Amino acid sequence: MGQWCCDDHEPVIIDRGKGVHLYDAVGNCYIDGNASIWTNIHGHCHPVIDAAIREQLERIAHCSFLGTTNEPAILLAEKLVDLFPPATLSRVFLSDDGSTAVECALKMAIQYFQLVGEPKRRELIAFDGAYHGDTMGASSLGKIPAFHQRFEDFGMPVCHLEASAQLQDVDGTQVVAVVVEPLVQGAAGIRLWPQGMLRELRQWCDENGALLIFDEVMTGFGRTGKMFACEHEDVMPDLMALAKGLTGGYLPLAATLCTTRIYDAFLGGSERTFYYGHSYSGNPLGCAAALANLSVFEDEHTLEQLPPKVEHLTKALESLVEGNPHLSEVRQCGLVAGIDLSGGDGTLGARCCAAARKHGLLTRAIGDTVVFMPPLVITLQQIDEALSALGQGIAETVSKA
Ligand SMILES: *Cc1c(COP(=O)(O)O)cnc(C)c1O
Repeated sequence: MGQWCCDDHEPVIIDRGKGVHLYDAVGNCYIDGNASIWTNIHGHCHPVIDAAIREQLERIAHCSFLGTTNEPAILLAEKLVDLFPPATLSRVFLSDDGSTAVECALKMAIQYFQLVGEPKRRELIAFDGAYHGDTMGASSLGKIPAFHQRFEDFGMPVCHLEASAQLQDVDGTQVVAVVVEPLVQGAAGIRLWPQGMLRELRQWCDENGALLIFDEVMTGFGRTGKMFACEHEDVMPDLMALAKGLTGGYLPLAATLCTTRIYDAFLGGSERTFYYGHSYSGNPLGCAAALANLSVFEDEHTLEQLPPKVEHLTKALESLVEGNPHLSEVRQCGLVAGIDLSGGDGTLGARCCAAARKHGLLTRAIGDTVVFMPPLVITLQQIDEALSALGQGIAETVSKA
C-alpha cells in the first residue's frame, strides 16, 4: 500500500484492449505480457467472444444455479467433457474462480471418502512452491512464504512434499488426495517439474487408493502447448480444477471436473448432497464466453498454431540470455516463461517490469523472476517486440543500480 500511495507512483489505468494490446487512459500502448494475470487466450475484444456475451446479455445475465440450469451451462459442460478421453473426466461442477474450483475439488474428495465408507482418510498432500488460490482451503494447499506463511497455522492441515519421490515415506492409507499443478508451478516463479512426475503420482495414488487432483487453472487452455498440461504425459487425474483461461480471460467462471466413480458416490438422498454453491455458480454470461472461447480454439486452429510460436519463444529467450550477465536462467513451458534476474534483492523483477513498460511491455515479476505469458494469439513479431522491451527495461534498470 505504501508503494501504491507514494507520491512518485503513477498508477496505470487500463482503458481498453485489442488483441494482445492494452491501452492506458493516457494513450500508451502495451503488449499484454502476462495475459492479464494468466487469463487471456485469444486477445482482448475478440469479436466472437464479444458477440456471444452480448447475445447472452439479451436473454439473461444471471439466474440461480441452485435447482435450475441454463442452456450455455449445459452446452459448456458437454463441450468440456468432450475435451477429455471417454470414461475419464465426465462430470462438471461449475463455480466462479480458480480458488473455488480447487476448494470444490478438495471438499468433493473429502466427502467422497466419507460417502464410500473410508472416513479415516484425512490427509491432503501438496508440494512446496504450490499455489492453488487464496481462499482458506486452497491457500492451505499452497506453500510460498509470501502468500501462505502467515496463515499456515489457521488453515487445513496439509502435508507438503518437495518432490514426488517423498511419497514413498507417506502412509497412503490415510491420504484423501494428492494435489499438484501439472508440469509447471506458476506462482512459484515458473518452476518446471521433472518429466514423468505425473505418471509417478498417478501410480502412487492408484496403489494407495488416494485421489489425484490436477490444478490446471493456469496450465489449461493451451498455455503449455497442448489443451491441458496433463496431455504431455498422457496422465488423467480423478479431479481437475479449471478457471482463468476457461472464458478466454473474459469473465470469472470455473469448473471442477470429476470421474463417474466420484459422481456416483454422491448419487442418492440428501445425506449425500454436496452442499457447495456460490451465488454466481454457472453464470450464463460466463458460460457463453467459455463456449465462444472453445469455438475460437476450433475456428482459429489455436492449438495447431502454437508449435512455431513456442519454438520462436525458445530462440528469442536464448538470444535474450546469451551474453547477458544480468540474467541467470530462463525456464519455458509452452508459451509460459520465467526469466531469472541475477543478483536481485526481490524487487529487481518489479523494477525491470516498470522500466519495460516504457518500451511497450506490461507484465509482472514474481520476486526476481519476470513472467512472460502472453495471450496465445501473439504473433512471432510481437514476441520479439515484447522481449526486446524487456531487454531494454532490464538494461536500464541494472545500469541505474
Ligand atoms: C491463479 C491460480 C489459482 C487461483 O485462481 P483465482 O481465479 O485467482 O482464484 C489456482 N491455481 C493456480 C495454479 C493458479 O495459477
